Amino acid sequence: PVLRVAIMGLGSYGTRVAEAMQSCKRARLVGVISGTPSKIKDWQAKYNIPAKNCYNYENYDSIKDNPDIDAVYVITPNALHHEGVLRVAAAGKHAICEKPMAINAREGKEMVDACRKANVKLLVGYRMHFEPNTLEIIRMRNEGEFGDIMFFQGLSGFRIGDPGQWRLDKDLAGGGALMDIGIYAINGARYMVGEEPVWVTAQETKTDPVKFREGVDETIQFQLGFPGGAVASCLSTYNMNNLDRFFLNGEKGFAELQPSTGYGPIKGRTHKGELTKPHVTHQTVQMDEMAGIILEGKKPEVPVDGAEGVKDLTIIDAIYRACETGKKQELEL
Ligand code: NAD
Repeated sequence: PVLRVAIMGLGSYGTRVAEAMQSCKRARLVGVISGTPSKIKDWQAKYNIPAKNCYNYENYDSIKDNPDIDAVYVITPNALHHEGVLRVAAAGKHAICEKPMAINAREGKEMVDACRKANVKLLVGYRMHFEPNTLEIIRMRNEGEFGDIMFFQGLSGFRIGDPGQWRLDKDLAGGGALMDIGIYAINGARYMVGEEPVWVTAQETKTDPVKFREGVDETIQFQLGFPGGAVASCLSTYNMNNLDRFFLNGEKGFAELQPSTGYGPIKGRTHKGELTKPHVTHQTVQMDEMAGIILEGKKPEVPVDGAEGVKDLTIIDAIYRACETGKKQELEL
């Protein structure tokens, strides 16, 4: 069986996912949800999408009556993920949702509950969880090749352009760099260390309060403490380009990835030598694997379900509280 997917939000990442899905074996793009009729027309022509599988934001609840769509992939601005997933669940369809899953943990939990009640699956677009060099490091860690993990460093950032875009509007983005790119360092800290953090401290700096308004973070440094004694030191920013590096150190060895989360080849090395797994198109592998999870109950190496998304949001909430109060925040994940 093939997972038949409709994409909601035909923007830049939605377009990337659609292109990548053309090479999928188990997932197929069959529908669209968009507020822009001209984009729907273009996508219909390009991907051979029938008119009966095309919806707008007013009428997509009726996807409930469409037996030819199994799942909806929500790829809209962050603050709209919550409503999108709730309506997809109410329509009885599986939901795949982009990161960050929502703009706080409370909304994330509501999405998990709604999907559980509707008896549909909820997955979050964590493409790195299927990336071969990343999985190789996780395999080495599990086999004890680094010894006890003591330290992780995650640096995630890019220099953001157009000040008018939704990423710099708190109402649509839910925050700033942390929500958008810093989440890679948070998520990476968890899958690289292999534990859930128990505390967080954080410090915010802002060089441009005009571009980065109240509630939109430019740069945050944060630290996570893990139960086994490891600490993570991370940086999230919207004002440095080419910042994409993970470093993990244990008692016996290290792993380094740079770039660590970009779309292009993920490269790195360990104390044993270069990482040599072949480059894959992340979104193609992700969608094929997600088809296996949804249709066959396959278990991924690193979880990509709603609970995983809520954990990252719980940490994001705590990082913002730590910045505001200057105090260490305890975490229970
Ligand atoms: P984008 O601005 O290119 O696209 C957003 C789309 O949502 C547009 O087509 C826009 O028309 C539509 N939209 C619907 N309602 C809207 C509204 N009220 N206001 C503004 N736009 C509205 O953004 P993007 O880069 O495609 O990001 C979309 C989502 O995908 C975000 O949540 C982002 O974090 C995520 N994303 C994930 C990755 C990844 O690697 N996993 C990469 C990029 C983006």
